[in-house]
Amino acid sequence: MAKRFESILGTVGNTPIVRINRLAPKGVNLYVKMEAFNPLGSVKDRLALAVIEAAEKSGELKPGQTVIEATSGNTGIGLAMVCAAKGYPCVLTMAEPFSVERRKLMRFLGAKVVITPAAERAVGMLKKTQELVDKHGWYWTRQFENEANPDYHSRTTAPEILEAFKGERLDYWVTGYGTGGTLKGVARVLRKERPETKIVVCEPADAALLASGIGQERNPDGTPSKPHPSWKPHPMQGWTPDFIPKLTGDAADMKYVDKLYSIPGPEAMRCSRELAAKEGIFVGITSGGTFAGALKIAAEAEKGANIVAMLPDTAERYLSTPLFADIPADMNEAELEISRSTPGCQLAAT
Ligand code: PMP
Repeated sequence: MAKRFESILGTVGNTPIVRINRLAPKGVNLYVKMEAFNPLGSVKDRLALAVIEAAEKSGELKPGQTVIEATSGNTGIGLAMVCAAKGYPCVLTMAEPFSVERRKLMRFLGAKVVITPAAERAVGMLKKTQELVDKHGWYWTRQFENEANPDYHSRTTAPEILEAFKGERLDYWVTGYGTGGTLKGVARVLRKERPETKIVVCEPADAALLASGIGQERNPDGTPSKPHPSWKPHPMQGWTPDFIPKLTGDAADMKYVDKLYSIPGPEAMRCSRELAAKEGIFVGITSGGTFAGALKIAAEAEKGANIVAMLPDTAERYLSTPLFADIPADMNEAELEISRSTPGCQLAAT
């Protein structure tokens, strides 16, 4: 039965949890929670709705006030959607290296996108955002520190997982972190409701900030005062900015991380391609990275274990990135052979 909704915002969350059939090792039950089913294709639709509704409630966001955020893309796309649906102007700052289709999506949704120099990385986006807030009095949603972000995951994502495994074991929950909203919000509910569930966290091998053991230097408001020394550029857009976000730091401090894996970029991309080609599960690079971690824990899990991995977004967001670099637009030899196997409708030989 199709459900009826009063606006697009009602369709955020309640994403499906899907069994992995061909890529899972024998004897364990591996599931993925597909955040690509959110209306704009990522987990960040939850955050966007959460921070805007919390600011409306607290009175910090006034009717018609401009909303601003620093974003690698998915947050901006989610915020642009929520602002479009609710009628707020939206400005997003974004560092140059993030994929071009993300900028276009935000603009398509009616937002303005201010690009900041690649050399100044994520900290540069934050600096520009602060300047614009000071100058224009816009409302900054502050995704990296805003408690409405993990609160929403505690209220929605976590209960969705608990409901799906009601009366059954839940051995491992696997996630990455960008802001850490998913990690902090879901982990604290699991600790309380399912203390036996192990929390597995994945981060890029080139930016294994939690594994480094080096803390983040912060300003009094929780924002980073300088980039983390262990950070290097990595291909997992949406994972691990060049600092440890406050929400992620909180989760680590509260001992919510039972197991930590460093995932190399090529391994994340291989997993993303395999999920697509062998399971029909069409997801982005950080999803591949989280799935790589899920496969590692699955290899050492006891028989009958139930594992759930978070897959944050859709592969469609990566068409211009290295994820699709080996996917040609023209026919390859095998395809040409199929084409030549019957006489009609063949392209002229080049
Ligand atoms: N993967 C992608 C593609 C994302 O956009 C994000 C959010 N930045 C994450 C993972 C991590 O989610 P969170 O911010 O809740 O830690």
